[in-house]
Amino acid sequence: MFVFAAACSRESAPADAATGAGSENSAPSATAELIAMDCGRITMMDLSLFASDGEYDGRENMAADMCFFVRHADGDLMWDAGLPDALNASEDGVTNGPFHLSVPVTVASQLDAAGVAPADIEYFSISHSHFDHVGNAAMFAGSTFLIDKDERAFMFRSGAREDAESFALIAPLEDAETTEFDGDHDVFGDGSVVILDMPGHTPGHKSLLVKTVSETYLLTGDLYHLEEAREKRTIPQFNSDAEQTLASMDRFEALAEEHGARVIIQHSLDDMKALMGE
Ligand SMILES: [Zn+2]
Repeated sequence: MFVFAAACSRESAPADAATGAGSENSAPSATAELIAMDCGRITMMDLSLFASDGEYDGRENMAADMCFFVRHADGDLMWDAGLPDALNASEDGVTNGPFHLSVPVTVASQLDAAGVAPADIEYFSISHSHFDHVGNAAMFAGSTFLIDKDERAFMFRSGAREDAESFALIAPLEDAETTEFDGDHDVFGDGSVVILDMPGHTPGHKSLLVKTVSETYLLTGDLYHLEEAREKRTIPQFNSDAEQTLASMDRFEALAEEHGARVIIQHSLDDMKALMGE
């Protein structure tokens, strides 16, 4: 009996330890809060640019331009920076090449409504460095800039400086405190907010996974611009790499299934209305 009890207690020690670890694992996993913001509207006057096979010829599209404020116990993250708040001064918006741009409500006012000052946001990151995702980047130049090494090299390449107006939007990030990474980046180290490597639209294009208490979200960045692009796997003509884009779509869809995630297309007006209750 003693022997048995001793054996029992010896076995129960690691069993208890395992139970302890198990109860930690079964505790609610780390989560963040996701706040969607209306960071501009874009009329794409020539949607043919968004497919390589004529799929969208002759069409135009009204797009949202969402950005996101992510609140976590260990800090805040701003994901993408939309169109410049300065466009809010132009009631009818402006035309820029094949796009008509407008900003009905500023990012500054939405952050204010969320009770946060831009200077107090710990981290700033972007899906990619196109103009409609960095419009207010200067507002977050005091945050730690989380950026893929390929995207950083792309955005600050010498050729990018030739377009002085566009470069001015990102120039303040060049000297920002920066964490450069290669591939995925787990922002808070607990799996709740993970920047995902999805290259192809640009060399270091990213998507974002955010686990909230109620749901896991996958924010597309510009992996897809339209709902139907997800199904049709259309590749914009201006993407940096078509093969990489298709591989990223495969990875994104596998992750969406694995996590049972709610996919948010950042340029989808319907997704913005669903998230923001408009
Ligand atoms: Zn975009």
